[in-house]
Amino acid sequence: YICNIHKDNYRLLILSKKIKMIEKLNKAFSKLPGVGAKTAQRFIYHLLERDRPGGLDLAKALNEAMENVKNCERCRTLTEKTVCEICSSTSRDKSQLCIVETPSDIHVIEQSGVYSGKYFVLSGYLSPIDGIGAAELGLDELEGLLTKEKVNEIILATNATIEGEVTAHYIHNLAKKYQIKTTRIAHGIPLGGELEYTDINTIAHALSGRKDYN
Ligand code: ZN
Repeated sequence: YICNIHKDNYRLLILSKKIKMIEKLNKAFSKLPGVGAKTAQRFIYHLLERDRPGGLDLAKALNEAMENVKNCERCRTLTEKTVCEICSSTSRDKSQLCIVETPSDIHVIEQSGVYSGKYFVLSGYLSPIDGIGAAELGLDELEGLLTKEKVNEIILATNATIEGEVTAHYIHNLAKKYQIKTTRIAHGIPLGGELEYTDINTIAHALSGRKDYN
């Protein structure tokens, strides 16, 4: 059985090397996070051999999204409209502004259901080495927003990486300029997680990000 799988993979590999269009597709799929050449191969052959209508639907949906999804003019998250639903919602608390690194971070926070304020999406994190400075991050836009809107609290939800911390620190200083309180989300032990199996950095962060127990 295992031998057959190997043979199959080998056969596909030889085949795909001969077909330019498949090679091109493989390169495109392999660029996706978590997808290697082998997985790409499986996707491609699945679509070509078993699900051509699905393949055409995928191509159409991809094309549509790439052409029409843009960044919200206020918070920069992804949206089909000029201003996204969260930004245009009147039921959300305008005084709280949560800063995240990517639109998918918003999705995760929204799923938790505990936040009802507004957002601002950075274009990643400060990384001078990669040429990502304040302007590239969209911090000018953030500052513009702070001058226009009555924000009482900035919640820093950048990642618990060195870059994320530097970015958080930078925004904290920016907020000080406007006398806005900043809080940092506590990155800590996952629910159900045991200290013994948690890495030292996570524990250190969880400890330093601790808040009043009530
Ligand atoms: Zn928005």
